[in-house]
Amino acid sequence: MTAGTNEAGHLTIGGCDVVSLAEMYGTPLYVYDEHTIRSMCREFVGGFESEYADSHISYSSKAFTNPALAKILEEEHVGMDVVTGGELAIVRAANFPASDLNFHGNNKDRAELEEALDYGIGLITIDSMYEIDLLDEVARQKGVTQQVLLRVSPSIDGRTHLLTSTGVLDQKFGFPIETGQAEEAVRHALTKSNLDVAGIHFHLGSPLFELEPYTQAIPYVLEFVAKMREHGLEQRIFSPGGGFAIGYVSDTLPLEISEYAEAIGASITEACDRFGLNEPRLILEPGRAIVGRAGVALYTVGGTKEIPGVRTYVSVDGGMGDNIRPALYGAGYSVIKANGPDEPVAGYVTIAGKYCESGDLLVKDAPLPALETGDVLAIAASGAYCLSMASNYNMSLRPAVVLVNDGNARVIRRRETYDDLLAPSIL
Ligand SMILES: *Cc1c(COP(=O)(O)O)cnc(C)c1O
Repeated sequence: MTAGTNEAGHLTIGGCDVVSLAEMYGTPLYVYDEHTIRSMCREFVGGFESEYADSHISYSSKAFTNPALAKILEEEHVGMDVVTGGELAIVRAANFPASDLNFHGNNKDRAELEEALDYGIGLITIDSMYEIDLLDEVARQKGVTQQVLLRVSPSIDGRTHLLTSTGVLDQKFGFPIETGQAEEAVRHALTKSNLDVAGIHFHLGSPLFELEPYTQAIPYVLEFVAKMREHGLEQRIFSPGGGFAIGYVSDTLPLEISEYAEAIGASITEACDRFGLNEPRLILEPGRAIVGRAGVALYTVGGTKEIPGVRTYVSVDGGMGDNIRPALYGAGYSVIKANGPDEPVAGYVTIAGKYCESGDLLVKDAPLPALETGDVLAIAASGAYCLSMASNYNMSLRPAVVLVNDGNARVIRRRETYDDLLAPSIL
């Protein structure tokens, strides 16, 4: 949102010259713009509240997590979802309010559940029969009654990539409504004296560029909720998950947050009216849409391989170790020359990573100005699911993260060192 160009002809973000940031902190470097993060939080909080008063935004921290981000979210009145004890540890380090946390995941173990209960977590979303029994037992041992949601699967296709589609019948998440297993789970959970079943959750996948999957699934799931009253379910909370899309490439533009809010809000109000349900508290779980656009990845150009009449590969100092999405999902990105964003396009080049896989390509056939060794490339919309999926493949060092705002840059994660690589090894 704050991207611009300065007198030197360099890309700026948050008032900072990104070429200077690259020099100062090295590349690959992930730059997050605080203004964009806060603006997206406000778009979600305000956008949903204006369409459905009792809404609450809970950021899906798997998209990117860091204590500094947790602080920003807390200030913006946004809660957080975690899916492992590790994510919980990060948000605990920021003293994030426990009441505003929701623990997701299809196979949380006993230790993770204990850690969550010890922290006094507000909500746990249960994903299996095994977990209903396990959590009830852990809660009894701790002498607490845990507020929970049950995750159902509505057999609705979010029309996104197969590997990120979570609403269809044949995938691992949630109790299927279609097969009667969701009903069985509700009945079973309601018999547990240390579980307080507050409602139902579903998540269709990500990113969803259309409204229809939501507006199809919401009445279907709320009809199920209404039916479950016969077993004693009293709905207080309802969550249609996250999955809100962002723009990665210019020919696939996302919806406005207000469009999602309008459709989802109206859909819930209508369905509650139709099935005679009280209007529940609504929880939305955006991950990508809060941080995706806010993050920009910077790389330095190394060597170039030009295969005459075939393709030109320009190698950079990062790749699938810090952003596996192109290799994993065929995800598309747009890239610019950060030290010459306004220079004319000289041709199409493929940006290759430095990892030992031929599939390690960040952007295929990108229109770019003439490039030489030492130029800095910026890949937009790199804020979600890049660093959170980063690895040490090839024993490479995961990048530093800089938070920029109003001309100031603050390192919120330092670059890894060889000592970090060796720390777990026993010599
Ligand atoms: C991943 C996930 C989300 C967030 O998805 P985004 O596309 O990042 O918005 C929300 N809810 C659940 C349960 C998830 O697994």
